[in-house]
Amino acid sequence: MSTDTPNVYLDNGDSTPVFREVVDAMIPYFTEKFGNPASLHKLGLEAEETMDEARASLAGSLGCKPEELYFTSGATEANNLALNGLRLERPDKKHVIVSPIEHSSVLNVVKRWQKEGWVELTELKVDGEGFVDPDSLREAIREDTLLVSIIHANNEIGVVQNLEELGAICREHNVPLHSDMVQTLGKIPFTLNELPVDLASFNAHKTHGPKGIGVMFVRKGLKVRRIFEGAPQEKGVRPGTENVPGAVGFAKAVELSLKNCDEATQKIEKLAARLKEGLLAIPHVRWNGPEIGPNRVPGNLNVTFRYIEGEAILMMMNMKGVFVSSGSACSSRSLVPSHVLTSIGLFHEEAHGSIRYTLSRLNTEEDVDYALEVTRETVDKLRAMTAFIPEEHSERESDHATTFYKKK
Ligand code: PLP
Repeated sequence: MSTDTPNVYLDNGDSTPVFREVVDAMIPYFTEKFGNPASLHKLGLEAEETMDEARASLAGSLGCKPEELYFTSGATEANNLALNGLRLERPDKKHVIVSPIEHSSVLNVVKRWQKEGWVELTELKVDGEGFVDPDSLREAIREDTLLVSIIHANNEIGVVQNLEELGAICREHNVPLHSDMVQTLGKIPFTLNELPVDLASFNAHKTHGPKGIGVMFVRKGLKVRRIFEGAPQEKGVRPGTENVPGAVGFAKAVELSLKNCDEATQKIEKLAARLKEGLLAIPHVRWNGPEIGPNRVPGNLNVTFRYIEGEAILMMMNMKGVFVSSGSACSSRSLVPSHVLTSIGLFHEEAHGSIRYTLSRLNTEEDVDYALEVTRETVDKLRAMTAFIPEEHSERESDHATTFYKKK
């Protein structure tokens, strides 16, 4: 890559640049205020107080009680702890329900349980845009259902589920609802106290905070057992020395993200509409997921460029300084087609030709215009090397997302 190649980062669904104010807030906790909250001297007590403040600040931002939050190393751990911790508390419950478009840190947990014979697993149906069918949830719940897990906003296609409706169904049957809310934090405001969600997972690095810190929410009254042993940090539920700078940075990042959330969303949606228009003007492109608007997390765009490979597109765009992803970070290093894209009806070759662009409030119109120019050039070059491209819409192309289920 030449030194004057621009760096246009459109992969904010994978990670985001940390706000300068967040870095500034964290620095003292690496240098002067580096104490371990477990120590009984002044530095330790100060660190303990800092953890309490960060927890209270996050609880204020999320709309829950501080004692309902448990710090973890990130959302992967929060998802694993919430699911496994609940199963250990309720070993008599032998059935779980998930959406088929969960992140691997949920899906792989329940698939492993199923493989090891601990539970029966029901995967709900989603429609062509990725919305969970509430009737399929109602029908799936059983007497012995341990939990339902439904991702709030999907990381690949941005679809935002109606947690009010889905959670109300779970409440009717007294079954806890867990939600991976990583992608909505700081982008779509919510109040946990008002949502019928009993367990939830979050991290900092998708919302301009540091990597390596997350939080698990467990509604008061519900019990989750620790999954590894150690000292009694986080009320014994998550042993291990606390990441004090991380907690400070996490709380600050969420506070800042929510402060200007409406303004940021307007800016991001405008950029997204500009990018979408340019992308759909390219021939043989399929739009994946819901329309831009309240049913899609701000800044997420996912398209299929038919007859070419997503990995090749990504690599050529990378050479020109435009950074995107082909599916989610976790599936982008494997040749297995994205389970999310196949769940909404894409053929395998279409899933392989898909690219995700994720914008943040820090992107500009110039970024979008440059990304479009590079995308067009890349697609033209790759298609010029492709043996077969039909003149017209082919039978091999799945229809543009069709919607079967009722939306909010
Ligand atoms: N859940 C979702 C929806 C994600 O997008 C990610 C990030 O890749 C994770 C969970 C995992 O989060 P972490 O990187 O904090 O482990």
